[in-house]
Parts: sequence; C-alpha cells; structure tokens
Amino acid sequence: MCGIVGYLGKENALEKIITGLETLEYRGYDSAGVAYVLNNQIKVIKREGRIQNLKEAIPWQDHPTIGIGHTRWATHGEPNEQNAHPHQYGKFTIVHNGIIENYQELKKILEENGYQMKSDTDTEVACALLDFLYQEEQNVLKTLEKARKLLKGSYAFGILCADELETLYAIRNSSPLIIATKGNEKFLASDVPAILEYTNEYYLLDDYDIAVLKKDSLTFYHDLKEITKEKQIFEGSVESSKKEGFPHFMLKEIYEQPKVVKDTIAFYFDGTKDSLYQKLPALDKYETIHIVACGSAYHTGLVARTLIEEIVGLPVTVEIASEYRYKKVFYDEKTLVIVISQSGETADTLASLRKANQDGIDTLAIVNVVGSSIAREAKKVLYIKAGCEIAVATTKAYSAQLALLSLLTLKLALIHHTIEEEEFLEIRNAIAALPEQIESLLDNPQYKKIAQQIYQREDIFYLGRKLDYSISMEGALKLKEISYINSVAYPAGELKHGTISLVEEGTPVIGIVTDSEMRDKTLSNLKETAARGSYIILICNEEEKEGNECLLIPKTHPILQSMLTIVPLQLLAYEIAKARGCDIDKPRNLAKSVTVE
Ligand code: GLU
Repeated sequence: MCGIVGYLGKENALEKIITGLETLEYRGYDSAGVAYVLNNQIKVIKREGRIQNLKEAIPWQDHPTIGIGHTRWATHGEPNEQNAHPHQYGKFTIVHNGIIENYQELKKILEENGYQMKSDTDTEVACALLDFLYQEEQNVLKTLEKARKLLKGSYAFGILCADELETLYAIRNSSPLIIATKGNEKFLASDVPAILEYTNEYYLLDDYDIAVLKKDSLTFYHDLKEITKEKQIFEGSVESSKKEGFPHFMLKEIYEQPKVVKDTIAFYFDGTKDSLYQKLPALDKYETIHIVACGSAYHTGLVARTLIEEIVGLPVTVEIASEYRYKKVFYDEKTLVIVISQSGETADTLASLRKANQDGIDTLAIVNVVGSSIAREAKKVLYIKAGCEIAVATTKAYSAQLALLSLLTLKLALIHHTIEEEEFLEIRNAIAALPEQIESLLDNPQYKKIAQQIYQREDIFYLGRKLDYSISMEGALKLKEISYINSVAYPAGELKHGTISLVEEGTPVIGIVTDSEMRDKTLSNLKETAARGSYIILICNEEEKEGNECLLIPKTHPILQSMLTIVPLQLLAYEIAKARGCDIDKPRNLAKSVTVE
C-alpha cells in the first residue's frame, strides 16, 4: 500500500510530487508528507489525514527541483504526524512502502549505539540503520547494499542523503517501485498513474535493484554492478486515472464494465475455437486446479470453481492466499495453480505464487497491471483489459477477471469435450450480447430507491446457492467495504443453522436467484427469513412474488451470468454508501493494492 513519489528535474518538485501523490492517494491516505532540498538543506513537511491537509501546510513560494513524497497506510504506529513519512535520521531522509519485519531487533542494536527513535514506525528504524551503516561506508550505494542484507521484510524506499543533495536513490524488495523519465526529468513512484500526467516511459525495479537518479544520468545497480534495464511504455491513457465527470471513481469504473468485459474477451476470443487454443495457454495436462487469491479476486475464484467443476468436471480448490502460503498443499505436475490479483503486487498472492514456483508446479497469473511482480514471476500470465482501477473497492477488474475465467472454463470444456457444438454456438452468441446486457443494468432508479429504504440498517444478509452464493459474497464485501454496514453472505440453506437468530423485523435480506435449478430452494429459504420479519430484495431473471423489492436482470448462459448479477449489487452498495455519506473511493482503513502481509 502507500504511495511514493520522487522528482528530480528543472521544474517545481513540490507541484510534481503533490500531483503524483494525489493520483496515488487510493494506496493510502491516513497521513502524507514531503521532503525537498532548499538552500542546501532538506526540509520536511508532514500532516495527519488527507493530502489536502499537507497541501495547506506547504509553503508554495518554495521552488525546489528535487524531493520525495509519501501518502501512508499505517502498519506500525498510529496515523499521526510524528509517524508520517518522510522519516529523517542523521544524514538520511526516506519514504517507505512496506514492513520491516525485524525492526525490533535492529532498533535494539541501534539504541545500543546511541540512536533514539522519535516515532513508532519500522521506517524510522530503517532510516537510522542507513545512517549507522553510512558512518562506516561513507558511500550511499554501498550503504544500501549492506542495509538490504540486514533488512527483513518488504520495502520500496525513496532516499535523500544530506551529502548528495542533487541525487535521489531508490531500492526495493517485494514492494512496487518504478523509475520514470521525461527528457532530463526523473521520477520515482509506486505506480504508473503518478507519472502519467508527464510521461509514459518507465523502468521496473526488480528486488534489490538500486536506482541512482542524478540531473544528467540514471543508473541502475544490482549487487553493486551496473546493469541495464529495459524501458517500458505504458499503453493506457492519462484519462483512465481521471474521474471524467463522474462523482466517484467507483461509479466511473462500474460504468466502464461493458467495455472492459468486451475488451478482455475480445483479446483472447474472436468467436473461433482456434483463438482460444492460440491465445490461452495449453491446459490439456491438468487434472486439478488450485485458484489462489485475496478479497474480491478470491470471489472470482469461487465463481470459476463452480463453473469448471460443473461444466468441465475437473476438481478445483479455491484458497485464500494468506492461508495457502503457509498451509500444507497437495499438488503435483498435473496441478495448475492460478493466482489472481488486480495489481499483481498482492503480497500474500505473490508469496503463494513463489511457493508453487519453488515446488516446480505450473503457475498461471491473471493480473491487470502489466509488468507487476506477479505477472513477471508466474510461468504464464494472462492480462485482463481493465485499464487503471483507482477506486479502492474493485468493480471493473473483478468483472474482467470473471470474463477471463469464463474463457478459461470454455477452453477447458472444449479440451474435455464436455460441451457440444450447439452449446458452444449458444455461448458465442451470449458473449456477443453480454456488453449490451451489462449496459442495460447501469441506469435504474430502483437502486437509489432501495438504498433509501435500507441504508440505515446495521446488518444486511445476502443469500444464494452455488453461483448465486459466490456472487453474493462479492456483493456483501462491496457493501462492507464502502458503507461499513455489517453485511454477510450465506449459502441460502445455511442461515437456519445459527445466523437466522439475527434476523428481526425489517432486516434486509438480499436474495439472489438466477440458478433455475436452485430457484425453489432459495425462495423457500428466503421465506423462512420473511417469516421472521425480513425485508427481502430479490435479484432474479424473472418476476417473483416473494420479495418486497425485485431487481430483474437478463438471463444468459451460466458461464456468463455472474457478470450480470454483480452489477445491481455494486450499484446498490454504491447508493447505500452514498446515502450514508461515506467516502466511497477511499473507505476508512483500506487501501488498494495490498503489498503487506
Ligand atoms: N510500515 C510503514 C509505516 O507504518 C510504511 C507503511 C506504508 O507502506 O505506508 O509507516
């Protein structure tokens, strides 16, 4: 999490850094700060809260040409001004993304050597360590090389040293960091949106690479040896990181779903079976599939499990990455491990991928961000075509992941001969109709009306069976994330085994009924809640009598249905959060791209 931006050039570094931080604010927003060089001194300004508070504190008459900035997602120590970055110790001033796991141990050694920390952060300890090592080395490069051997955990650092006021240093391990250039201007940043206003050319740092940014040079080192790095060009547009008239990024991104789903499918499937064989990896040899992911990406895995098991007949296990990385796993050369992550930097998913790679198991990554760590380390990678996703609560990347997983299911079904020609043609036609069907769900005054009805409730249940249950899990997470309502998804038949005790007069229950085979069962379960006073909102393909409200969605082939069912759930969550006055794009305590364990 956290956003780092650094600038070195001729222009006003403060403006560049703040603009960059604003585009990265989705990565962390509990405090922010900058450090810059003015009159041969390093000046640090930090504030608690949003970047706006920092902006108000900046002396804009200053015109530095070099500096670093940070927007924090606290891991160690409260989100107050003292703990905000940049941190300064002796000759060093740094911004940090990540967690130094052995900071207590290092702190002890440093304290024994006379160092005293002013903050509660792991970052200040890392900063003091640099100062300590530098006393002996008197060379920043060698200091960083020595430090990286002592630091355990994850980090991306932007670094200023008081002895080299015209140089920026950067080093990373397991946290994202890019270096961008525009002529002689140089930037460092946690993510591409921060630099898109100025340039689309950048370099990706690998673990333990060190970048040295000077006025007339940009040099990369690894193991103290100079290395060359390949320049990357970002293909997307700067618009993708702007709101373009929408009140929130989340709403804009929900409205982008018809296009994103269309683009993702079109990239791999042109309507012919051949395209699936050519554009998607060979899957013939796999007898089991493990899908590993976190949060919403995990929910797409649940959908894929049902699809692959039901349509193809292959066993699939879906695991939360933070568990998978540490648990005993049963896999062999006939297992495919699929990891799913929007950012491609999700720490637990990356660790799970590394575990499978190390065990020699085939891995396939589904990611959005090109060149991200997961994309680079997986044996095979498939990109979704979602463009930049800024809102913390994912919507369009979730749908694009579903689209790709549907295509993988379709390919597996062809390989295993589990669908006939007729059904293949039916799916092909359904795919062609899908973007318009998603579009048809976007503008519906019912979302607002229902939100008005239920937004003050503190508990909301989501019920469904099989695919409808997987989707309801994502619906409940969306609502939790942005409205802070305690929303829980249950397999419809399970509620009466305990949780139904929480249903009282007026408790909203959102029932999802798109699976015709499960329809009667789910409706009976909903009736059980109605008998206890629940207020039922149905999401279904045809008018039903049971609900107090009914949101009708188009019917399509089951392999695609989830991409339609999710839309009303996203928009309901959006309208409820809006009615509650929540900060929709930056929900409390959350940050996009979870790069820490
Ligand atoms: N661990 C550091 C802190 O708590 C960095 C957190 C971040 O990545 O924003 O300050």
